[in-house]
Amino acid sequence: MAVRVRFAPSPTGPLHIGGVRTALYNYLFAKKHDGVFVLRIEDTDQNRYVEGAETYIQNALEWLGIVPDESPSEKGAFGPYRQSERKDLYINYIHRLVDAGKAYIAFDTPEELAEMRSAAETKGETFIYNWKNRTALKNSLSLSKKETEALIKIRAPHVIRFKTFSENENKHIKLQDVVRGELEIDVSLLDDKILMKQDGMPTYHLANVVDDYLMQISHVIRGEEWLPSMALHVLLYNAYGWKPPVFAHVPLILKPTGKGKLSKRDGDKFGFPVFPLQWDDKTPGFKEEGYLPESLNNYLALLGWNPGGEQELFTINELINVFSLEAITKSGGRFDPERCKWFNLQYMQQADSSMVAAQLENEIKNKNVENSVVDLSQVAKLIQNRLTLLTDVWKEADFFFIAPEDYDEKALRKQWKDDTAKILTAVTVLIGSSKDTSADALSSLIKDYANDNEIGLGKIMAPLRIALVGSLRGPDVFEICSAIGIENSISRINAAIKHISG
Ligand code: GLU
Repeated sequence: MAVRVRFAPSPTGPLHIGGVRTALYNYLFAKKHDGVFVLRIEDTDQNRYVEGAETYIQNALEWLGIVPDESPSEKGAFGPYRQSERKDLYINYIHRLVDAGKAYIAFDTPEELAEMRSAAETKGETFIYNWKNRTALKNSLSLSKKETEALIKIRAPHVIRFKTFSENENKHIKLQDVVRGELEIDVSLLDDKILMKQDGMPTYHLANVVDDYLMQISHVIRGEEWLPSMALHVLLYNAYGWKPPVFAHVPLILKPTGKGKLSKRDGDKFGFPVFPLQWDDKTPGFKEEGYLPESLNNYLALLGWNPGGEQELFTINELINVFSLEAITKSGGRFDPERCKWFNLQYMQQADSSMVAAQLENEIKNKNVENSVVDLSQVAKLIQNRLTLLTDVWKEADFFFIAPEDYDEKALRKQWKDDTAKILTAVTVLIGSSKDTSADALSSLIKDYANDNEIGLGKIMAPLRIALVGSLRGPDVFEICSAIGIENSISRINAAIKHISG
């Protein structure tokens, strides 16, 4: 069987990382089996439609590198890939069920239904529109053919409902889910779901099943929140006489506390992103916060899927190789912001330093910082192993471009001695006369000077660092010296002497 899977988001807002993970699993599964990964936009509910959401979803998948083979912008043989462009086709399929006696037209008004609902409530019961009461309600099963036709003729508002279960049928059906195993469902407890709404639009359930069939979807991999719909979907497949796809319901991503589903509010509360890309001014995404897509993919892959063994870092190709639906875990994966950062740190270390240099260049531009001396790729290499997030670059590199204006008091008290000014002045003379300005050359120059004059190296290095950086942070001090240039170094040392020793 050819593997065709789909990610089928509704464009109701930005893509949450739960959705990203579902898309990722679909992608990995498709690639593993030389299959096809489809993006289908489920936009039949116009009330929940949010402008920009579809573009956001496509951009997010692109940033993550989990690009669909077929989508609204990547046409395949099974389009259109937006449900709103498939409207006419659903009506046909709905009527097929009506003609076969498996669905029916219902004329009950929303007011009538609300009344029945509250009447049931006062008796402590729940109103369910199903096999028990459908013949007593206002629909094409209880009315005569003539009455029904007359109502249709006067355009009486109506919906079409699925005849979910009938008295002579088997109450229990068995469902197979790759993650959950076998589930037995009492379908006599289900309601007669609406397939076509009053406005003539299909509901999610109908459109979803018809499209999965027409797009020849072999495996439905989706969030656990859809597990309660699985029985209905299987009944719909049966009603049409179609073979259902294989289902795999992926467990939820849980809050950092482990209790309940991760929500957008948790991101705000704990200060981490929950969306891949920025959605609005108040909602930065993983990208803007400095996470690398490879790292996010790796972390999310392991959040609800367990390949076994000790390996934690997987390239996307390794993930494709080892991915299997069977290894998806039953229990939810707790989102741990610190662990997510740890993954990013690993990927930052391995990344090409040109990416760090590019980020540095952006920061410099955004901050309007003058720079004609410092080589960005040199600085990128020096700071790369100090970065957890790509956005840490400025925090780690600011002093390469901006001379310190004040100095860390505590460090000064400890490191700045009576003879420091004298020693550092000697350092300026030494480095000023050196032809070779590489870090190695500067380092041996200063070390020889320390040796010859029997000065402990610490007495030079720490004050030198304070003079160049303003505090005791940063990479190797001679690397800093070399990167900012001799002229800059000397003027920083002199400024520090003036400022500190008065
Ligand atoms: N449109 C549904 C959603 O937004 C799709 C669920 C499914 O994959 O069947 O999640």
